[in-house]
Amino acid sequence: MTRKILVTSALPYANGSIHLGHLVEYIQTDIWVRFQKMQGHTVHYVCADDTHGTPIMLRAEKEGITPEALIEKVHVEHSQDFSDFLVQFDNYYSTNSEENRQLSGNIYRALKANGKIANKTIEQYFDPVKSMFLPDRFIKGECPKCHSKDQYGDNCEVCGTTYSPTELINPYSAVSGATPVRKETEHYFFKLSECVDFLRDWTRSGTLQAEAANKMNEWLGEAGENKLSDWDISRDAPYFGFEIPDAPGKYFYVWLDAPIGYMASFKNLCGKADLNFDEYWKKDSTTELYHFIGKDILYFHALFWPATLEYSGHRTPTQVFAHGFLTVNGEKMSKSRGTFITARSYLDHVKNPEYLRYYYAAKLNGSMEDIDLNLEDFVARVNSDLVGKYINIASRTAGFIAKKFDNKIIPAQHTVIDDMRAAAPAIAEAFTARDFARALREVMKLTDAANAYVAEAAPWVVAKDESKSLELHAICSNALEMFRILTIYLKPVLPNIATAVEAFFDVEPLQWADAAFGLGSQTIQPYSHMVTRLEGKQIEAMVAANKENLQATEAAPVVKAEAKVESKPAEEGVYISIDDFAKVDLRIAKIVSAEHVEGAEKLLKLMLDIGEAQPRQIFAGIKSAYDPATLVGRLTVMVANLAPRKMKFGMSEGMVLAASDERGGPYILSPDSGAQPGMRVK
Ligand SMILES: [Zn+2]
Repeated sequence: MTRKILVTSALPYANGSIHLGHLVEYIQTDIWVRFQKMQGHTVHYVCADDTHGTPIMLRAEKEGITPEALIEKVHVEHSQDFSDFLVQFDNYYSTNSEENRQLSGNIYRALKANGKIANKTIEQYFDPVKSMFLPDRFIKGECPKCHSKDQYGDNCEVCGTTYSPTELINPYSAVSGATPVRKETEHYFFKLSECVDFLRDWTRSGTLQAEAANKMNEWLGEAGENKLSDWDISRDAPYFGFEIPDAPGKYFYVWLDAPIGYMASFKNLCGKADLNFDEYWKKDSTTELYHFIGKDILYFHALFWPATLEYSGHRTPTQVFAHGFLTVNGEKMSKSRGTFITARSYLDHVKNPEYLRYYYAAKLNGSMEDIDLNLEDFVARVNSDLVGKYINIASRTAGFIAKKFDNKIIPAQHTVIDDMRAAAPAIAEAFTARDFARALREVMKLTDAANAYVAEAAPWVVAKDESKSLELHAICSNALEMFRILTIYLKPVLPNIATAVEAFFDVEPLQWADAAFGLGSQTIQPYSHMVTRLEGKQIEAMVAANKENLQATEAAPVVKAEAKVESKPAEEGVYISIDDFAKVDLRIAKIVSAEHVEGAEKLLKLMLDIGEAQPRQIFAGIKSAYDPATLVGRLTVMVANLAPRKMKFGMSEGMVLAASDERGGPYILSPDSGAQPGMRVK
């Protein structure tokens, strides 16, 4: 049955270059799409630049150009990078398009008609010099936890704590340096909290990987619970984006119109390719819709996006596929180590994109685990698998066909070939499941079998005996048939090599089904070498060039997701003395009361008994993880000698300790039984 499938990759933000971390996703999606197309399905793969938001606006201003000129320039660069990595979109568009403006407006109106939009007055930091409200990432100050200076308004890069900008000590605007003031403004909210039942069903209906569904469960809460807050979808002018219908000066937050950009890119494709937009997006659509994303934007794609679609009268995604991040040599990509490698830098030095496609595919298994690009292993693996094993089959046998048999092959027959044909369903199953690592392991097993066949048949020995011409012809024809079948299985990963192989055999583009049937007697083209060895010095040059790059560019935040959280272990080798530690007065505290704070998105107000006459009042950023009622009566640990701090909601007289990173949290601490309020922790 021919399926109709629409596939997307996450939209790259239009204020920076594509790097090897981004490519994990685009290469992964492209392999999957190419595989599905080889099955004969109708597949449309769309993407776009994500162009809106404050970072784009400020970057353009800094460069002295309009945002439109900036995003146009970046669009050209991104398109070229993807094309050079053989990522074959059916449409690569922009979220700053007329289609997207209309779709975003229509979806907003539908949500509003469904009673899912609310207006609320909130207080936000405002830069009095620039006359603009500041996103969290554009407010900096001292971390309220570890007191590191110059930390962002949403999380501390030194200790990994997340907090709201109101908790920063001595905040300042990263745009102008001015001290921000708090100012009231009316914002528009999507009432996500009303969608909790729908989302609980949707996230558990097979739409997500098990690990992602579990993560969503943490965010949603158990049945009967509701941990969702309404979603702030508006931003005030000046903002580069779409103005909200009937709301002058109010703009859609970039994350509202970014996923709608998938629809808009497809709509644009429909106009060019005679496709029916509604067939793919109407509520009862029988087509399939898949989103490939990084695990850091699951929140947006597994909660906001399906709710947006459901309550605006559209279909919801068939599945969302989340993947992990890229590490290089086992560590986060680092500018100072030269491992923050741009797509262009790779192409300049390594040149062949298929090396990276192959290596990523060999590591990707369909899970949310991070994958590691070990640069030494990369060189070794590419040379061993692609040059030493796969291409070797053709390069050791094709010459005889040219020299001795006038470029003619004869029908092939061998048990290794039978085994290769029989493996097609298992390899297809692994590709379907996005377990490319398993698919390639299967293919490499078959490749080893083919090489063993050639080694044993030893055509170079047989060729010396003129009377064995028929045998030689059969050996080489068999080996080339093995090579052809392997090429079919590798084609989603190595499309350029496959094209060269198709030209060599003088055949139409290979489809998956072509593995089942061998070629007859026919003339092929002279063989020319298809892959060269990768040299370690190419990698060294690339790493060196990226280190130099660092000196030429200044670090700029390229993060759009304000919810993005990255933890980073403390710098190695930086110790404190026991005396330093002793300065921190940690006490066992009993939570006497806990309550929500009107107008605070992340805070709970806690009253803590530490054996003093009066309980201490503390505002803790743990609202996302705890229902206040469940906290009352619990023992935990607090910092008792932190200088009291005046916050918008009152004095905070200390700090509660809690653990968190990208795996979850915050989780507050509990002492073992026996501990009493006021006991010192040391
Ligand atoms: Zn900190």
